Amino acid sequence: MSTPTTPDTPAHVHDAVIVGAGFGGMGAAIQLKRSGYDDLAILEREDDLGGTWHVNRYPGLAVDIPSSTYSYSFEPNPHWSRLFAPGAELKQYAVHVADKYDLRRHMRFDTVVDGARWDEESSTWQVSLAGGDVVRGRFLVTATGFLSQPRLPDIPGVEDFAGVVMHTTRWDDDVDLAGKRIGIIGTGATAVQLIPELAKVADHLTVYQRTPIYVSPKLDGPVPGVVRGAFAKVPLTQRATRMAGSAILELLMVAGVLHFRDLPAANRIGKRVCEQHLRRQVKDPELRAKLTPDYDFGCKRPTFSNTYYPTLTEPHVSLETTTIDHVDAGGIVTADGNRSDLDVLVLATGFNLWETNFPALEVIGREGRDLGKWWRETRFQAYEGITVPKFPNFFCLNSPYSYSGLSYFTTIETQMAHIERLLAAMSSRGSDVVEVTEAANDAFLARMRGLLGNSVFNAGSCSTARSYYFNQHGEAVLLRPTSTVSAHREAVRFPLEDYAFSTAG
Ligand code: NAP
Repeated sequence: MSTPTTPDTPAHVHDAVIVGAGFGGMGAAIQLKRSGYDDLAILEREDDLGGTWHVNRYPGLAVDIPSSTYSYSFEPNPHWSRLFAPGAELKQYAVHVADKYDLRRHMRFDTVVDGARWDEESSTWQVSLAGGDVVRGRFLVTATGFLSQPRLPDIPGVEDFAGVVMHTTRWDDDVDLAGKRIGIIGTGATAVQLIPELAKVADHLTVYQRTPIYVSPKLDGPVPGVVRGAFAKVPLTQRATRMAGSAILELLMVAGVLHFRDLPAANRIGKRVCEQHLRRQVKDPELRAKLTPDYDFGCKRPTFSNTYYPTLTEPHVSLETTTIDHVDAGGIVTADGNRSDLDVLVLATGFNLWETNFPALEVIGREGRDLGKWWRETRFQAYEGITVPKFPNFFCLNSPYSYSGLSYFTTIETQMAHIERLLAAMSSRGSDVVEVTEAANDAFLARMRGLLGNSVFNAGSCSTARSYYFNQHGEAVLLRPTSTVSAHREAVRFPLEDYAFSTAG
């Protein structure tokens, strides 16, 4: 019989160790508590909760999915000030959720996890922290986000720049940008939000674009007090708004991308909406040509903005599309020998998903299987985008084929439903170890790969998109190629025979 331990002793075995205190980790914690597991250790490398919405604080940060959709369906927030809420409100919402569901007491901040290993003898996960401590859990949940490992550009000389350099995830509010010559590398969704804000204060702004992005109009605006009041008093009204918004987004962002071959019209609508937006906002044909993507809509994540294109037409803003040759102490030199002298260099260069984020830490399962190595050497795969053979009692939230494409919240709620069903099955069988079978995983992978054949990623023209959706093998395995509704349906109905249930020891 094991000796009783207290939660803060090294020998203590928690019900679950969750890595990450963002919306994914918090969703998993809420589900575990609902399923009766209350002894949780939520480990977070940052100094507070909120994940992306704690780390990202750059000017202009906002959601780019309507807020009624970009939130937990079971925790609607009637107080969003705008249709697309500013970043600070998301952080506030995260704090509200943590307090309401009593999650904070489980969280440990400034805690960097180095790796996790399944211990066959004790049937527990042993999670190693930087500094040498070990935390143990019956279950392991990794909720480390898709976009949490910043990518620094491989451009020679960035480290020689004498002015201020900031990646967008490390924004320093103390840097005075007023009247400065600012250069920004990157034109992804982050840059599209940030560029109009930088242009408001810069003496000159140079935007370095390698690949243009599709930008659609943003149907944004303040949510009137009377509507917020209605959302608070009659939650059904907000639920209806969520459903309508989600349906439109599903059509544009999911159906047009995943059903590229069957439903080319949905994809064409998305592309045309963006092209018309560009034509309306940019009259100069040369500038317009530079901003026109040469790949199919959806190969790369499109974004929404009403201010990005007009900003690029301002006299003190230039769009540079010549390849960057190098950076030196004074600025950026392009391949044609032109240089721009800069005071501040902003790196809106995104995230490294496929080398350092899948998974974000070393996870070793049964028979020494190393998840990251296995994914890279075979194929990126996870049954229903959450479990992996040889990794018992492990829920990997940021898995291949897990992202619904609609909103991170629909993804996590689908995963919560999967966890709920599995834990209930364990409880009814008196089992305490569960592992997906190789056969079920193989069948799921084959099905997803088949469905991807219909998507823009396989059937469209994506070779020039440089999209982070594609991994090092050229496969787009981030998005689950089914509708959000069908993903959720499977989460509540998957065959329980797809798992092997056993008893520890
Ligand atoms: P991103 O989409 O990966 O964009 C990175 C940009 O940096 C690209 O334009 C890329 O050019 C450029 N870049 C990288 N390395 C470069 C180099 N060596 N030389 C020149 N250019 C280089 O990253 P992101 O803009 O941070 O957005 C990531 C994702 O975050 C978005 O797709 C979205 O899902 C999410 N996001 C969400 C919100 C929200 O409100 N919910 C807001 C912002 C971001 P190439 O395209 O040529 O590689």
